[in-house]
Amino acid sequence: MTNLFPSPAWPTVPVLGEAAAYPVHRIFCVGRNYAAHAAEMGVEVDREAPFYFTKSALMTEQTGATVPYPPGTENFHYEMELVIAIGAPVFKADLETAKVAIYGYGCGLDMTRRDLQLAARAKQRPWDLGKDVEQSAVFAPITKAADFAAIGPQRIHLEVNGEVRQDAKLEDLIWKVEEIVSHLSHYYHLAPGDLIMTGTPAGVGAVVAGDVITGGIDGLAPVALTIGAAE
Ligand code: MN
Repeated sequence: MTNLFPSPAWPTVPVLGEAAAYPVHRIFCVGRNYAAHAAEMGVEVDREAPFYFTKSALMTEQTGATVPYPPGTENFHYEMELVIAIGAPVFKADLETAKVAIYGYGCGLDMTRRDLQLAARAKQRPWDLGKDVEQSAVFAPITKAADFAAIGPQRIHLEVNGEVRQDAKLEDLIWKVEEIVSHLSHYYHLAPGDLIMTGTPAGVGAVVAGDVITGGIDGLAPVALTIGAAE
């Protein structure tokens, strides 16, 4: 049977050293995974279990893009994050199984309509309008896990127009990468194509049209985004 209208291909993210790209099927995002960021958001970290929200894979944007300032917000925020790329089916996994299912890591930006997220939070409503924003999941090329050092003292940082706004270390992650993959695998059949954004450190803030965002993690390809005029 043919389709009624053209269906877009899965968005993809390049992989360093590979001719083939990584197709993005799902994007899971961890909330509150750095204590200093939770504090700046006026909340405490729930240390019993991580929590998640999602973005549609169609919200994927490539590093280096210029995206229009999105509609419906007056407080559009950057969040610099370590991204996990799943490389094998993983379901109800223990920590060791979860770790070997990680294909690679990348730098990502979880762009957020903060005013809408906080309004939803205050009313105990879902965060979709704040988080599932068009072109809001910005991914740098993926580095294979074997080519990345053990997660620890790597610096994770973000600049706006060259000025440092976020500056932390991956060892500050409250939920470690294998803990996140293991926990999430008790709710989903994780599979290749699933990306997990692991949360942002302190220092989030607003951007305006014309701003240039750059972000990096030691040992990974950097991510960049330019904010264009509102449509
Ligand atoms: Mn985030």
